[in-house]
Amino acid sequence: MVPRETRHFDRSARLYSQNACFNGANTRIIHALLSVAIFRSFVNYYSCKDFALGVQIINYPHPTLRHVSKPLKRVDAELRSIIHKMFELMYEHQGIGLAANQVDLPYRMFVINPQGKPEAAESEQVFINPVLSQPKGRAEAEEGCLSIPNVYGNVVRAEKITVNAYSLEGEEVRAEVDGLLARVIQHETDHLDGRLFVDRLSPTGQMTVHDALAELEIEFQSKRERNELPDDQQIAQRLQELEQLRT
Ligand SMILES: [Zn+2]
Repeated sequence: MVPRETRHFDRSARLYSQNACFNGANTRIIHALLSVAIFRSFVNYYSCKDFALGVQIINYPHPTLRHVSKPLKRVDAELRSIIHKMFELMYEHQGIGLAANQVDLPYRMFVINPQGKPEAAESEQVFINPVLSQPKGRAEAEEGCLSIPNVYGNVVRAEKITVNAYSLEGEEVRAEVDGLLARVIQHETDHLDGRLFVDRLSPTGQMTVHDALAELEIEFQSKRERNELPDDQQIAQRLQELEQLRT
């Protein structure tokens, strides 16, 4: 999940990096970064251990976002690396929550930090196999999503919710949460069930985001036509293989 107030920060950060490209003094830095990127892709190609390096956020309407995730049966070193990478991606894109589906993985797991910054590491939480119960009250607030860039809308959710889950250390966690924390947990748990916040918008809200979603659909289709994305069958096959590994 991504709150709207970070959108402006997001935009100014992007403009800054565009300006930096025109600054001759930065050319060497850019070359150095490119070398690192090439080296990383080399390492990624030759080592399964570095699977996590290839983990990236996927955008609507990628089919994995509609996949219903299965509970994890084991947490191994590779999954820990993936979780670390998920936190990195979440901060990089100014988000406060990121679910496994959003990085093209079929696991019932998400990471959050309602403070949205790596310096506030004490607010980082990993939820494995979360189950929500005892919803209380109703609250409406605006939401955004890292997989649906620049789209925002008001969503009604339970004001309070009880969450049962496992931590990364394998401990069972049970908590009654409210406010932003309750909202983020509900938004991310929705992802694990293949549901997006835009599905929960009012008819007026749906109309407001219609064009932006249509643009993302066109963009996705263009990538498919350029063979930059696998087809539905290849995606389903990969998800099934990943499920067999850990669920
Ligand atoms: Zn989301």
